[in-house]
Amino acid sequence: RQSNLLATFERLESNVRSYSRSFPVVFRKGAGAILEDENGCEYIDFLSGGSALNYGHNDPDFLNNAVQYLTENGIVHGLDMATSAKREFMECFEEIILRPRGLTYKFQFTGPTGANAVEAALKLVRKATGRSSIISFTNGYHGASLGALAVTGNRYYRDAAGLPPAGAVFMPYDGYWGADKDAPVYLEKVLADASSGVDLPAAVILETVQGEGGINPASKSWLQSLERLCRENSILLIVDDIQAGCGRTGDFFSFEFADLSPDIVLLSKSLSGCGLPLSLLLLKPELDIWQPGEHSGTFRGNNLALITATAALRKYWRNGELSARVTKTGHIMSQRLREIGESNQDQSLLVRGRGMMLGLDCGTGELAGKIVRNAFEGGLVVERCGADDQVIKLLPPLTIDEQTLQRGLDILEKSVNAKA
Ligand code: PMP
Repeated sequence: RQSNLLATFERLESNVRSYSRSFPVVFRKGAGAILEDENGCEYIDFLSGGSALNYGHNDPDFLNNAVQYLTENGIVHGLDMATSAKREFMECFEEIILRPRGLTYKFQFTGPTGANAVEAALKLVRKATGRSSIISFTNGYHGASLGALAVTGNRYYRDAAGLPPAGAVFMPYDGYWGADKDAPVYLEKVLADASSGVDLPAAVILETVQGEGGINPASKSWLQSLERLCRENSILLIVDDIQAGCGRTGDFFSFEFADLSPDIVLLSKSLSGCGLPLSLLLLKPELDIWQPGEHSGTFRGNNLALITATAALRKYWRNGELSARVTKTGHIMSQRLREIGESNQDQSLLVRGRGMMLGLDCGTGELAGKIVRNAFEGGLVVERCGADDQVIKLLPPLTIDEQTLQRGLDILEKSVNAKA
């Protein structure tokens, strides 16, 4: 039955689909950290929709809010009319997230995907500065549309556009040369040097922990020197918190640990709480320069997603409990992963990341692929990332209980040690 159902995908769905190849089953249900396929087999989910399900699958409180909204004829699509769902979300976000952090951003809803937020940010910084080039980083990932791809440092994705899109100047991300401060030092020098050929950019775009690029965390000092350089040269700083935000690293925003004050913050993935598409820009008020209608889009600010996003903020961010839990679970995970990495026969596998955004670097895509396949057979869903797919990405729901976490890690350990 299973293979018949997959045959439908083979026959009718474009070849470009990818995850069905890693996980050759048809999934039917999800609850918390558990996925179930059509044969009733259960899997522990350490992928969480690529960090789009930080609170797990189908949180009953979010579902209740969504169902109640729908049964009361709440407006699902209203273009960007003012709705009570949007007002409640903005007020709640301001109260629970912005005000306690002393932040005064305005909301610009984009949507529905992360790449839509990236596109809007790239367009806005050009208008705001009158400059066009963007500094981005090796191994950075910002999305598959042309603008987002232009700032994405991955040849495989870029080649998909035929002639790779231009417009970005790539700098080495923290640790690329093994040194701590390479990009800020280099950037400072070339911006001061009229012969360098590097024009003053409009903005720098970065992830504080690169997700698709291999779970590469930037250090506090590297991020701070980059921010200082931006300020000194009137370059805008965009933090793409689409994957690392919404609590994944422990804080709501991934840049809080470095005390950054980005001009623009991009959020999507886990923002809606339950996997509904929603994305937005948080803007410093002086960047709210577009005239009404200058940047439009039919599916901006989906009301149902705003209802569940508000429920997620209320349930998980009113106090610091989730942050403390992520820090604790992240420690348990990284310690266990270190042991698992060291247990590999040939060479130790390195563990990287922050909070519950962790990666196990297997050195080669081949070894990582073998482990991922073994893990799936053992009942664990994990995926790979990094330029050569050499890193196993571990993103369990932030709300996972310790027993399920340890069961998942047991499967991973067996998968590392199993012969191909
Ligand atoms: N930025 C980052 C950091 C991401 O991880 C992703 C998705 N993996 C995107 C942008 C693009 O988001 P989407 O796939 O929703 O367009």
